[in-house]
Amino acid sequence: MNRLLAIILLSSVAAHAAPPDPNGVEARLAGAALMDGQAFATVESLSDHIGQRLAGSPAADRAVEWAVATMKAAGLKNVHKEPVKVPRWVRGEESVELVAPARLPLRATALGGSVGTPKDGLTAQVVEVSSVDELKALGDKIKGKIVLFNKVMQRTRSGDGYGQVVGLRGRGAVEAARLGAVAALIRSVGTGNYRLPHTGGTRYDDAVTKIPYAALAAEDAEHLHRLIARGEAVQVKLRLGAHRDGEVMSSNVVGEVPGRDKPDEVVLIGAHLDSWDLGAGAIDDGAGCAIVIETARLLTALGLPARRTVRVVLYMNEENGLSGANAYAAAHKGELAKHVAAMEADSGAGRPIGLSVAGGAPSVALLRSLAEPLRTWLPTDVRSADWAGADLIPLQAAGVPVLDVNQDMSAYFDWHHTAADTVDKIDPIDLALEVAAFSVITHALADSPEVLPPPTAPPRW
Ligand SMILES: [Zn+2]
Repeated sequence: MNRLLAIILLSSVAAHAAPPDPNGVEARLAGAALMDGQAFATVESLSDHIGQRLAGSPAADRAVEWAVATMKAAGLKNVHKEPVKVPRWVRGEESVELVAPARLPLRATALGGSVGTPKDGLTAQVVEVSSVDELKALGDKIKGKIVLFNKVMQRTRSGDGYGQVVGLRGRGAVEAARLGAVAALIRSVGTGNYRLPHTGGTRYDDAVTKIPYAALAAEDAEHLHRLIARGEAVQVKLRLGAHRDGEVMSSNVVGEVPGRDKPDEVVLIGAHLDSWDLGAGAIDDGAGCAIVIETARLLTALGLPARRTVRVVLYMNEENGLSGANAYAAAHKGELAKHVAAMEADSGAGRPIGLSVAGGAPSVALLRSLAEPLRTWLPTDVRSADWAGADLIPLQAAGVPVLDVNQDMSAYFDWHHTAADTVDKIDPIDLALEVAAFSVITHALADSPEVLPPPTAPPRW
């Protein structure tokens, strides 16, 4: 090596801070997450013993009891349930079939909250669009038809391709019904291509006729697209047994690692306990439940309570209406000024790839300094983001600082909201790395003399 290069290399090493203390809090947390981690066992227990836990279902009630028992076993204090009213939506039997130009059973499933079809089904011609603008431009041609929203979701490491398409899933049925459509279909909002339909929540407007809305597997959307592009008249028959069966009471589950000096100040770490009904809810969001429970378990087991309280919240019904998130924000309204930060683990089980915070330069700078001990393996290019998790929306709106330990989501949307959301998709090492990063950041937020400034803007996603 020439001498100049050696000097440059040495001075760039010297410019960095001292190496992390091997006996410091960060090394102890990260080491224990990897060597003694129980996160995989926790998500395995939830997936295998409870399985799918659609809000309002008997399985969701069992999940609540599982969460209480698991949090107590993990050493959390003040473990309790908080009431949440949730819709009871029932999928029922469903079948979707291409009837012309040639018969083919299609792989499709009702979107969460969708109304059903008449018992004998509903058959109509399909019109394809890729956006609401395109739909509106067709005007009268939509009357009596089934609208297919066909927009491809891009695969990205950050998962941001989802946000570019998911709006069609939320409002597609309303927009189609305004123009007289009798039903709507959407190309599954996902990146998988194993002919799996991806469900997910949709919404209605009480002033507009509610029409059935279902997701089609990507291959089936392509199939219809090819036919329509050739000018063929495509007829589809939908038979969806989906219906709403009132509302029932359920619960968020809450537990704490009480703070040493400022127990009334709270760092909230959340995940959602409910799941869709098609798979076992392992990556969405069993993994998140495991990450936050394991974080609290490690803080307790290693004897590392922080100055402030770390509060674990497992929210009920994130998927079908954010009921638990809204109930928590309402019930704790008077206490939110003392919530110094909130994070949610709801991005699957991928390894950590960075950090983001809903805020400006001061928030980014503080988070970057808190993450400094992780710099050898976690990129500390903290991003400024518009939001940090669905269940955090009401907290952000109330001024609570929200942030996220970003995960690699490259594969997440292959399985998200499908029958393939099963525990075998989780790499225990990636999950343990996420716990390592999540627990270090949680402890730093709860222990730091400085706190994050409030978000600079309301949540946008
Ligand atoms: Zn989720």
